[in-house]
Amino acid sequence: MSYVFRPIQRLIEKGFYDPATRTVRAIKTKEMFTDSRDWQIEGALRMLFHVLDPDVAKDPKNLIVYGGTGKACRNWEAFEAIVDTLLTMRSDETLVIQSGKPVAVFETHRLAPRIIMANALIVPKWADWDYFRELETRGLTMFGQMTAGCWAYIGTQGILQGTYETFAFAAEKHFGGSLEGKLVLTAGLGEMGGAQPLAVKMNGGVAIVVEVDKKMIERRIRFGYLDTWTDSLDRALDLAHRYLERGEGYSIGLLGNASDIYWQLYKEGFKPDVVTDQTPAHDPLSYIPSGLSVEEAEILRNKDPEKYKKMSMESMRRQVEAMVGFMRRGSVVFEYGNNIRRMAYEAGYSEAFSFPGFVQAYIRPMFEEGRGPFRWASLTGDPKDIEILDDEVIEMFRHNKRLVRWIENARRFVKFQGLPSRVVWLGYGERAAFGLKINELVRRGVIGPIWIGRDHLDSGSVASPYRETEGMKDGSDAIADWPVLNALLNASAGATWVCVHHGGGVGIGYSIHAGLGLVLDGTPESDFRAKHVLTTDPGIGVIRHADAGYETSIRIVKEKNIKAPMIK
Ligand code: NAD
Repeated sequence: MSYVFRPIQRLIEKGFYDPATRTVRAIKTKEMFTDSRDWQIEGALRMLFHVLDPDVAKDPKNLIVYGGTGKACRNWEAFEAIVDTLLTMRSDETLVIQSGKPVAVFETHRLAPRIIMANALIVPKWADWDYFRELETRGLTMFGQMTAGCWAYIGTQGILQGTYETFAFAAEKHFGGSLEGKLVLTAGLGEMGGAQPLAVKMNGGVAIVVEVDKKMIERRIRFGYLDTWTDSLDRALDLAHRYLERGEGYSIGLLGNASDIYWQLYKEGFKPDVVTDQTPAHDPLSYIPSGLSVEEAEILRNKDPEKYKKMSMESMRRQVEAMVGFMRRGSVVFEYGNNIRRMAYEAGYSEAFSFPGFVQAYIRPMFEEGRGPFRWASLTGDPKDIEILDDEVIEMFRHNKRLVRWIENARRFVKFQGLPSRVVWLGYGERAAFGLKINELVRRGVIGPIWIGRDHLDSGSVASPYRETEGMKDGSDAIADWPVLNALLNASAGATWVCVHHGGGVGIGYSIHAGLGLVLDGTPESDFRAKHVLTTDPGIGVIRHADAGYETSIRIVKEKNIKAPMIK
C-alpha cells in the first residue's frame, strides 16, 4: 500500500507511526498536525496515538490496549482511515465510529461532539461471547473494553487510584484504617491487575500477586509497580512474613497459576488477611487454565477453543472454591470486577456468590456522591503541566485528606506511560470547578491543552449487575437505560467525544457502559463544554443513585438544587 498521497503520511514522516512494524507513538509536540488546527480534533488524534503507544498498550501490534482483548480500533485499515479522517475533518463535523471502524462524517455544528462511537453492542438475545466472536471473525465488530475503545486509557495509573481507594476502604472497614501488618493475596499483573501490588503497598500492606506470565511480572517491576518476584511459594511466604513483621509495605510477584496457588494455600490451612483476584476471568479464552504455560495456552486456544474454555471454567471454579474457603476461615474476600464468581457458578459451583463484589463492598458510597475516576492528560506531552495541576488540585481540595495522600503517593510512585496524566476521584460540583480552572490555566498559557476523561466504571455511566450496579437498593442492577442516557446527555452537553460500549470489565452479555473525552484548549467554547459536561456527567450519577433510593444522593439533589421531578 502506498501512503504517499494520504494525510497519515505526515505522521509517518515524523516517526509517530510506522506502517511496516505497526508501531504507533504518543505525539508529544506543540506542533499540530490536523488541517483544522483545532485542539478538539487534534486532541482526539493524540489520545488515539497515546493509547497505542508501546509504553501504554499491552499488545499494540494487534491494537489491544488492555483488559484481555480490549482494542482501540477494529484493524489497521480502520486505524489509518480514522487518522486520515481526523487529520482532514472540519470543526463542524462529527465522525461516526462503529466498533472501531470509521463509517461516516456528517456536518453537525461546532459544539456537537467531534466523534461518536458505539463498541461491541449486540441485541441482547444474541449477546454472548460465542456469537460476539463469530461476528468478530466476520469483521463486523470489536471488543472495546472500557477505556480502550474510547481512547481514555492512561496506563496502570488509572486503575492504581481506584485500587488504592478500594484497599483504603477495605482497610478502614476491617482493620482500623491501614493494611500495615496485613497480607493480601491476589492474582493477575495485567494492565488493570498490575496496579494491585503498589496500591497495597501505598496502604502499608504486603501483597503476594500470582501471575502466570513472567513477561508481565517483569513489566510491572520495570514500571515500579512491583518490588520483587519469585517462582517459589515458600520463598514468597518467607519474604512476606519478614515485611509483615516489620510493618513495612512490600509487594511480591509469584510466578504460577492462581487456580493452583490459591488451592494449595487453602488446602495447607493458610489464612491471608485479604483475598481477591484480577485474572481476566471475564473471558474464559483469556484466563489461563491450570496445567498450561502461556505458550501452551496460546496453541490450545487456537486449536481447540471449546476444550480450552472447559479447562478455564474448571480452573476458575477451583480458584473460587478456595476463595470461599478463605472467607469461611476469616479472610476478607471480594471479587475485583472480573466476573470470576459468575464463571465459577456457571462451572457448577453453587456457592460462588458467597463473597461480595468490590463496588458493593467499598465503592458505592463514592458513587452516591457522583464521585469517580476523573482523569486528565497533557496533550502536548509536558510532565510540567501535570505537576502544575497536581498543585492546583491539592490547593482546591485540601480538605480531602485521601485525595492529598493520593497525589503525594502518585508523585512519588507513578511513572507516566504515554502522555503524562493524572487521575483523581472527584464528585459532583468538584469536576466542573476543576475543569473550569484547568481551562483558565490553558487560556493564560500556564499549561498546554488538556484532555479530560474518566473510566466507564463511574457513578452514572454503567449498568453491570456483577460489578458497579451489584445489589442496588431498588433492585435496578440490570437496568441499562442509565449509561445510554449518560452518553446522550454528555453529547447534548458538548463532550468532544462520547461512546457507548458493551461487555467491558465483566464480558459480553454482562454490562453496558459509556465514556467520554473532553478537550480543554483555553477557548470560551471549552469553558462552555467543561461547565456543562462536567456537571451532567457526575450529575446523572447522583440522579441514578437518588432514583434508586440512596439517601446521600437524595440529599445532594436537594442541596445542589438539581432539577429532578420525582425525587422528593
Ligand atoms: P490483562 O489481560 O491485561 O491481564 C491479565 C493478567 O492475568 C495477564 O498478565 C495474564 O497473564 C494473567 N493471568 C491469566 N490467567 C491467569 C491465571 N490463571 N493465573 C495467574 N495469572 C493469570 O487484564 P487486566 O486489564 O489486568 O484486567 C484483569 C481483569 O480485571 C479483567 O477481567 C478485567 O475485565 C477486570 N477489570 C477490572 C477493573 C476494576 O476496576 N477492577 C476494571 C477493568 C477491568
